[in-house]
Amino acid sequence: MKQDLQLYNTISRKKELFKPLNAPHVGMYVCGPTVYSDVHLGNCRTFISFDLIFRYLKYSGYKVRYVRNITDAGHLEGDRDEGDDKFAKRAKLEQLEPMEIVQKYTLGFHDVMRVFNTLPPSIEPTATGHIIEQIEMIKTIIDNGYAYEVDGTIYFDVEKYSQKYNYTILTNRNLEDMLANTRELGGQDDKHGRLDFALWIKAKPETLMQWASPWGMGFPGWHIECSAMSAKYLGQEFDIHGGGMDLAATHHTNEIAQSEACNHHQPAKYWMHTNMLTVNGTRMSKSAGNGFLPGELFTGNHPLLRKGYSPMTVKFFMLQAHYRSTLDFSNDALDASEKGFRRLMNAVSLLPKLTASDNSEVEIDPLRMNCENAMNDDFNSPVVIAELFEAVRIVNTVYDGALKISATELDKLKTLMQDFIFDVFGLKDEDASNTELNEVLDMVIALRKDAKENKDYATSDMIRVGLQNIGIQLKDSKDGTTWSKS
Ligand code: AMP
Ligand code: ZN
Repeated sequence: MKQDLQLYNTISRKKELFKPLNAPHVGMYVCGPTVYSDVHLGNCRTFISFDLIFRYLKYSGYKVRYVRNITDAGHLEGDRDEGDDKFAKRAKLEQLEPMEIVQKYTLGFHDVMRVFNTLPPSIEPTATGHIIEQIEMIKTIIDNGYAYEVDGTIYFDVEKYSQKYNYTILTNRNLEDMLANTRELGGQDDKHGRLDFALWIKAKPETLMQWASPWGMGFPGWHIECSAMSAKYLGQEFDIHGGGMDLAATHHTNEIAQSEACNHHQPAKYWMHTNMLTVNGTRMSKSAGNGFLPGELFTGNHPLLRKGYSPMTVKFFMLQAHYRSTLDFSNDALDASEKGFRRLMNAVSLLPKLTASDNSEVEIDPLRMNCENAMNDDFNSPVVIAELFEAVRIVNTVYDGALKISATELDKLKTLMQDFIFDVFGLKDEDASNTELNEVLDMVIALRKDAKENKDYATSDMIRVGLQNIGIQLKDSKDGTTWSKS
């Protein structure tokens, strides 16, 4: 177990030593997607970041229960408990049942997560599957005096809560300023305070998804699902709660308030927030119209794209930025990532071909230590990538015969690359998975070898140049011929 892992806690606004409540067990809850439409690349960045954190905690020896929910009900268009239900609106638009919408976009989300080679969470609960738990929690909040009913709708009483607790603990905002910046209540508003938010919303007769409750037919507010489900699967107090930075101001602020009003203490010890993927400095989002879909990126079928990029190129591009920095999308940056990722994979493919010497001019332990230190410093993946390129340099120099490596150090180099590239980063060799291409190339290389042995240089050159023309480079050495994509 790495005892020196530091992570940035949004509540304290500094890096803290990670001390799980019940080591080696770790409970981590991440707010999942709202499945009324396709996930865009910005959403993917957040889930890929938490996949990295999940993987590294496991690498460090922790037993992680990773809960990532699916929001499949109760998400109104406005943050102020008004506007249409997103699922109902989409269902009408696509002429489907709301649950068909949920199924369609949940499957699509899983496909995208698989393409990015992320690990599935340990539990993936849905809001609609936990209506009873949400109602129970709301009942306790009402009993504790922090919520009130107005005609079948239940509101959380932020003013009352603020008398005892710090409502803005996550963002450090000034409550007076927040009030001043929030629209005044009008005649049609039922809630008592401007910052109050709905825990349960009364259904209209035409509401498509509604459930029975002690307050009549209705549906849950958006925030209560995460409070109820995290408590159910991780306990009333657990280790890490995460999501995108845009969730901190409202969704997570309200989650803390609900859990505290219900259980009298905060739900999570560490709050972690990933920064946004931007396009020309603007946050990628569906509403801004700059939120392109993973499929558009892979095919290049989008006006902002010069060409398509493979899933692992995109993932590598994301890992090259720290999860708390913004990451701006650009074709140039993706081109650079494509080259970098190929260099990395090329080195991986050379690993089995390296021969060990009796002595070693290189030591691998310091490299592993640098990688671990970087990850222990709030999951600093860009620093790990710089260290991995040092490993690439070693592989290439040994392969060229300009550096000696012993069998022990070579083994360490192989495990280091396996651990960080594949296990911790969750990258995969897209060419290696293309077994048919590998087999065909092995055959073509064997034919070229035969031609050379028969001094048929015209044929051997024709093969080499032909492959070069389709972007495949052959490299001859005393151990045989290898190929790489140029
Ligand atoms: P949603 O489906 O809109 O609830 O979002 C799912 C997750 O994606 C949440 O954790 C959001 O904070 C996150 N997210 C949304 N937009 C971006 C973005 N541009 N960059 C990174 N994460 C984002
Ligand atoms: Zn949530």
